Amino acid sequence: MKAHDGMYIDGAWRPAAGRETIAVVNPADEQEIGAVPAGVEADVDAAVRAARAALPGWAATAPAERGERLAALRDRLVARTDEIAEVITAELGSTLGFSKRVQVGVPVAVTGSYAELAASYAFEEKVGNSTVLLEPVGVVGAITPWNYPLHQITNKVAPALAAGCTIVVKPAEDTPLTAQLFAECVAEAGIPAGVVNLVTGLGTVAGQALAEHPGVDLVSFTGSTAVGRKIGAIAGAAVKRVALELGGKSANVILPGADLPKAVAVNVADVVRNSGQSCNALTRMLVHRDQYEEAVALAAEEARAYVPGDPRDERSRLGPLVNAKQRDRVRGYIEKGVEEGARLVTGGADAPEGQPSGYYVSPTVFADVTPEMTIAQEEIFGPVVSILKYEDEDDALRIANGTDYGLAGAVWAADDATATAFARRLDAGQVDINGGRFNILAPFGGYKRSGVGRELGAHGLAEYLQTKSLQF
Ligand code: NAD
Repeated sequence: MKAHDGMYIDGAWRPAAGRETIAVVNPADEQEIGAVPAGVEADVDAAVRAARAALPGWAATAPAERGERLAALRDRLVARTDEIAEVITAELGSTLGFSKRVQVGVPVAVTGSYAELAASYAFEEKVGNSTVLLEPVGVVGAITPWNYPLHQITNKVAPALAAGCTIVVKPAEDTPLTAQLFAECVAEAGIPAGVVNLVTGLGTVAGQALAEHPGVDLVSFTGSTAVGRKIGAIAGAAVKRVALELGGKSANVILPGADLPKAVAVNVADVVRNSGQSCNALTRMLVHRDQYEEAVALAAEEARAYVPGDPRDERSRLGPLVNAKQRDRVRGYIEKGVEEGARLVTGGADAPEGQPSGYYVSPTVFADVTPEMTIAQEEIFGPVVSILKYEDEDDALRIANGTDYGLAGAVWAADDATATAFARRLDAGQVDINGGRFNILAPFGGYKRSGVGRELGAHGLAEYLQTKSLQF
């Protein structure tokens, strides 16, 4: 696959400072498909300098003009959808249809939403005898994960640009080719040199250098809680702004009276989507004891329909996991679930039949999961759902709120009012009511250890602004 051997800095592909490279592997067949440079501190420094130099000009550009550039970026992403989707499928392993519809389709919509928001947002407000100016925070350092490689980048770049910030992106090691295609689109969209810069590299080298760089005013990170803690500490020590989108262990609460088959089917589809590698996946299904066995049987039947297969084949409904480490991690959690006494209903830790190579994991359903078990507490990041039993609503609420996480959730009931009343008591940043659809304008982010800050829509834009009050 085509790969640049340099970094996109100050509007051009520049040679990398070091000689090391990072191999990109296709998780469906374990073959190397390309390599990108492993950036070092000097690359990060050059990128931050370019972003800083471009800041005054971009911040002074009229918001409507920034919106026009974002619209042009959206148009480039649309024009190159098939190509980007193929690259995402090749380096991540998500099924091709999903790559087109979601992995590229959602970033297109998000970029378009910020093109409109830039033009319509009130960057000034009156408060009594003051005028409050909402000004760009400055240079942003964005560190992104591999699970939605384009989405996680546009989630940060689009609002940053709408706000008038400039940005340096350090994408995940596993999915740098998508990031390079994104940088090509940035150039094609006529976004001025230095406004968006890309440095590929290892998290512990390039990522850390970016988080620590004194020229970065805001670090926006999405990924694991372990790394999020480190980034938060670095930012705290330097008194810089930080946004953290971390993991989740979201509950799908099915109350008596809900449409049980639908609630279970939607839940299983949600967990196997992207091979379970979604931070907001509904990985805990909570069912009333009277309906418990019925739900377990429905979930098992539903899960078996997702037969792992080559993600390039449009008929496949479940691709591999991103890499061997993640596959082994997920298998380890499945083994732990069995060890701790959960009932394995379908799936398991063995390689799926007919898939001797590739990092595949079978869709797995656990029943008789109790709240203190590891598989009920920790983020697995694979196609694994844990079904827990509750006695009454208060019990369901205790279980649902009983983890360190608080990213998302879902409630199903006989009517929206009942489900909404329950959702108000959930410690979570997003809750879907009776199968409510994902909304790219709604704030996305976590309660508790799931993170700090919000992405998407106007709330996401506000993260990239700081206020100045003028008194008259
Ligand atoms: P990670 O947190 O290690 O990686 C995310 C990003 O952070 C990557 O770009 C990586 O290069 C960078 N990074 C790593 N160490 C860094 C450091 N010390 N300083 C600065 N940047 C650093 O995530 P992972 O190892 O790829 O995945 C592990 C687990 O994280 C997953 O199993 C899952 O539970 C969770 N995860 C969550 C999300 C999410 O969307 N919330 C996404 C991916 C992974």
